[in-house]
Amino acid sequence: MLPDGISKILISEEEIAQGVQRLANQISLDYSGKELVLVGVLKGAFIFLSDLAKRINIPVMIDFAVISSYGGATKSSGCVKISKEPDECVSGRHVIIVEDIVDTGLTLKLSNLAGKIRQAGAVDIRICSLLNKPDRRCTDIRPDYTGFDIPDKFVVGYGLDYNGLYRNLPYIGILEDKFYSK
Ligand code: 5GP
Repeated sequence: MLPDGISKILISEEEIAQGVQRLANQISLDYSGKELVLVGVLKGAFIFLSDLAKRINIPVMIDFAVISSYGGATKSSGCVKISKEPDECVSGRHVIIVEDIVDTGLTLKLSNLAGKIRQAGAVDIRICSLLNKPDRRCTDIRPDYTGFDIPDKFVVGYGLDYNGLYRNLPYIGILEDKFYSK
């Protein structure tokens, strides 16, 4: 039985594991012989980052950024602020920003996280997102590595929340329509 508020499972635990393994294999190949730092964007990417890092089979450093956004619970607000930037460990290294989901792209665009990491001396920067909602994109942000393209539905689980809840679900579920403020 599904928890209250979840209408259906969109991506199962097994499918997520396969998708994460595929991304880890590709990243391990692409960055072989390079110094790589994964920068996880908190809070949503914490489970994805952990599973991805465990499956990458080359040496890797791990850091975090915290981007806060303000506004509705199920819509990107357009008001964002970086409350924790990555440390100086990015200097002279290749960086992958690890996101839970890229929707409109406003969070990454307006926070200028990639610009700040570049200023800190990163050699190059790519984006790896577990989920990608291409229908709602209104910026030029495109993940270089994507786990799953998904439809324009509000999803939770595997790190993604609604009002702070559901992050601990082991799958990606669709939130019931009644929570949407469309
Ligand atoms: P963007 O700025 O690309 O529109 O959205 C990025 C952020 O909005 C994500 O990091 C996440 O916090 C939130 N977000 C966008 N779509 C969803 C969704 O379907 N579910 C959840 N839980 N958060 C979302």
